[in-house]
Amino acid sequence: MINMINNYITVQCTGCRACEQKCPKHCIEMKDNQEGFLYPHVDIKQCNNCGFCVKTCHQLAENLAKEVGEVYAARAKDDEILLKSSSGGMFTILAQYALRNEGIVYGCAFDKNMVARHVMVDSLKGLDRLRGSKYVQSDTADTFGQAKQFLNKGMMVLYSGTPCQIAGLKSYLGREYENLLTADLICHGVPSQKLFNKYITWFEKKTGQRIIKFDFRSKDKNKWGLMYKVQLSNSEKYKMGFLDPYYKSFLEGKTYRECCYHCKYATAVRIGDITIADYWGIEKQHPEFYTDKGVSLILINTQKGRQVFDKIKADILYLKSTVEQAVLQNENLRKPVRRPVVRDSIYNEIDNLEFSSYINKYLSVGLQPMTRIKAAVPYKVKLVIKKILR
Ligand SMILES: Cc1cc2nc3c(=O)[nH]c(=O)nc-3n(C[C@H](O)[C@H](O)[C@H](O)COP(=O)(O)OP(=O)(O)OC[C@H]3O[C@@H](n4cnc5c(N)ncnc54)[C@H](O)[C@@H]3O)c2cc1C
Repeated sequence: MINMINNYITVQCTGCRACEQKCPKHCIEMKDNQEGFLYPHVDIKQCNNCGFCVKTCHQLAENLAKEVGEVYAARAKDDEILLKSSSGGMFTILAQYALRNEGIVYGCAFDKNMVARHVMVDSLKGLDRLRGSKYVQSDTADTFGQAKQFLNKGMMVLYSGTPCQIAGLKSYLGREYENLLTADLICHGVPSQKLFNKYITWFEKKTGQRIIKFDFRSKDKNKWGLMYKVQLSNSEKYKMGFLDPYYKSFLEGKTYRECCYHCKYATAVRIGDITIADYWGIEKQHPEFYTDKGVSLILINTQKGRQVFDKIKADILYLKSTVEQAVLQNENLRKPVRRPVVRDSIYNEIDNLEFSSYINKYLSVGLQPMTRIKAAVPYKVKLVIKKILR
């Protein structure tokens, strides 16, 4: 029986911490497993079998979301916001709305050791830390409990994160709050902090410099796409995601938490009031709306989401779209990523090999020369080449 439960937890638990935060006896502790993902551990001696943890688990509950929302392509009117954001800057627009209403914002930030954590921000200046996708699982820490306190005081709270984090927050709260706005991301899946730490150490050793900032979605050079910018102590480094071992294996879905491969939120029926994502494929679906500064895909899923959308319209450009169009280049609106066989070896061997041998064996970036050339050519140049070829 215990084995069955453990097995279930390994496969289904998303590490949201709702059970730990809810436990009245404080006898649940979240600990890293061998792969570096957080899982709950119950102190059986303290536990009085109240069952709150099971009732709070969003994975054991029915998916709260019921219908597909309205779909739009959208982007911030302000170019500065666009260029600082991963896609069309919709997170910043929502955050500004919350802050203007004397609210607060929760989202993912890197701390000084490059650990991804959810934190609270109450000023426009603070938003810088939350902007940008961090392709590693973020630790929600005690933010669900904190958010509840602010909600009970009547403050507006915007909570952003992966769909499983939003589901965890909702289960933890256990009831609707008028003053809570949730923004979920369309999410591929998340690698572990342990894997990211090993990569960071390898990167710093290789360059002989300390990483100050890691931006997975820099728009400095190639504009909207998958290029990273790493600010090092004495220089900057840019690289296309497909040419980097950690980034490439993330994009290929090789390094995710187990539950990501069975994600029940990988669907067009969304858990947040508003869903934010990249509108990949916009150049084909709505060419007139394309810009190389980035376009968001947004889904307006609830009445509350609709009211907020009406209020932020002055700050954005938007265009009606459909799920059918959006899903064409955003598979996670329809299904989770397929689990590759190599995923097991990647995490089984994480402690056994020296990281450069580990990369060569499992996270190799051996691209065909043609793929390298294609990756390096800016989108506008590609369009011209296509026109000429036609
Ligand atoms: C792990 C991950 C996988 C993703 N997969 C897809 C995908 O398959 N398809 C797609 O279209 N979009 C995906 N996205 C979303 C996309 O990368 C952008 O984050 C999104 O479009 C918002 O961009 P923005 O321009 O509005 O704002 P930005 O300011 O760039 O967005 C930042 C927002 O992302 C949140 N965030 C950043 N990192 C994390 C994290 N590790 N965990 C939880 N929240 C985080 C911040 O809290 C903030 O709300 C993913 C994001 C992450 C973090």
